[in-house]
Amino acid sequence: MREIGHFIGGRQVAGRSGRYGEVFLPMTGEVQAKVALAGKDELHEAVEVAKAAQPGWAAQNPQKRARVLMKFLDLAHKEFDSLAELLAREHGKTVPDAKGDIQRGLEVVEFACGIPHLMKGEFTENAGPGIDMYSIRQPLGVVAGITPFNFPAMIPMWKFAPAIACGNAFILKPSERDPGVPMRLAELMMEAGLPAGILNVVNGDKEAVDAIIEDRDIKAIGFVGSSAIAEYIYAGGCAAGKRVQCFGGAKNHMIVMPDADMDQAVDALIGAGYGSAGERCMAISVAVPVGEETANRLVERLVPRVESLKIGPSTDPDADFGPLVTAEAVKKVRSYVDLGVAEGAELLVDGRGFTMQGYENGFYMGGCLFDRVSPDMRIYKEEIFGPVLSVVRARDYEEALDLPTSHEYGNGVAIFTRDGDAARDFASKVEVGMVGINVPIPVPLAYHTFGGWKRSGFGDLNQHGPDSIRFYTKTKTITSRWPSGVKEGAEFVIPTMR
Ligand code: NAD
Repeated sequence: MREIGHFIGGRQVAGRSGRYGEVFLPMTGEVQAKVALAGKDELHEAVEVAKAAQPGWAAQNPQKRARVLMKFLDLAHKEFDSLAELLAREHGKTVPDAKGDIQRGLEVVEFACGIPHLMKGEFTENAGPGIDMYSIRQPLGVVAGITPFNFPAMIPMWKFAPAIACGNAFILKPSERDPGVPMRLAELMMEAGLPAGILNVVNGDKEAVDAIIEDRDIKAIGFVGSSAIAEYIYAGGCAAGKRVQCFGGAKNHMIVMPDADMDQAVDALIGAGYGSAGERCMAISVAVPVGEETANRLVERLVPRVESLKIGPSTDPDADFGPLVTAEAVKKVRSYVDLGVAEGAELLVDGRGFTMQGYENGFYMGGCLFDRVSPDMRIYKEEIFGPVLSVVRARDYEEALDLPTSHEYGNGVAIFTRDGDAARDFASKVEVGMVGINVPIPVPLAYHTFGGWKRSGFGDLNQHGPDSIRFYTKTKTITSRWPSGVKEGAEFVIPTMR
């Protein structure tokens, strides 16, 4: 069986801990590879290698660092199709969707190519008599990224591209469920001219994550995954004195106002609710029609669309979505559907019994649609992370605004309306980090920043965009006076500009 080890010091190395995880082929249910799960020693070895390589990389001028990323873009584009196939085979999403995963990652690499400009500091001439003052950004040293299974190309690139562009060395701990693409991306970075040791991939589970939290030489951790683990890593990392940003789970609402273009709203809900089998942190999982009449019109149109969703193996380019990532994920999503029924929600479309002909052991699940879900139900409060959409009927706009605002998660939200006043009021008042107006999945582009509020995001700075440069650098401010400007005598009073 294919064995996936680690990528340390510029080459693939076998795992030494003796522990392995299984990498499935979700479309058939088979085990396709085993992945090494690192112990503390292996993590420590990667950090030592990174620590030795980092000063030389930081000393290169930023244009040279950018050129490595440019070359990487070129190589990744040449391999785009095979990367997408590998990604789809390990994750389960369709190949066209896998291409989107890679493309959204590459866009952040493109952003990071602007590092000579992005890292520029500030300068004040004559800040005092003969005094100049300037601020510069310097890399942190060795930093780590811990990433989830659902975007195995995009999120690793969101992490390592800006960090490496800033002159840091990087330890990536990708999801143990689909490590193939992150390993290949690291190889491509080497082929692009990155010095050995600047990007290392350490595969593993909780043991590797705990080793990252404990390692004194790792100065920052960027995490993306579920909220419970985000909180754990945030607390542990901060207590260990690191800079930490953790992005967690979600429950994204889409408000449908009475004046919305209903065809557009239904299309948006079908794509954003069921694309990638709902395994997206920006998936819409709650539809909130405003008023009974809007709700009836919406539900009437949603039912046939959910019933006719085309589910297929990842290799079927015409499938709307493919299998879920593991049998465990299917079990969890099914149990949430059972729970919704027990809680009294109306299950209008039941995808629990779906089997894929010819792929009976694959991790498939049909689309499910609940109506009359209420805010006290667990299926409303908790993240399901599967092809399940809940309709929560709101009496009026105020109630619709209050639902995402009061929810413990605050990643993304959308409003569908033709009323500019309502849209503006909503965007201003809703307590959620990313808002779409007639846009169901408002994932900001690379040069803006991505981040949720409340239990969807822990830390002060967002991912990618200008925040990523702030996160991966520290600012130093230098006050300088040359001898000709020095006054005679000692000063005992704090210098001021009076
Ligand atoms: P997960 O939390 O299970 O795993 C994420 C990472 O944490 C993996 O690398 C995993 O190995 C590690 N991990 C898992 N259990 C751990 C433990 N007990 N201790 C330490 N580390 C542990 O998440 P997942 O299932 O891979 O991904 C899905 C989740 O990620 C969803 O909740 C989704 O909403 C979230 N997500 C959030 C964003 C965002 O930007 N907010 C983006 C994508 C995914």
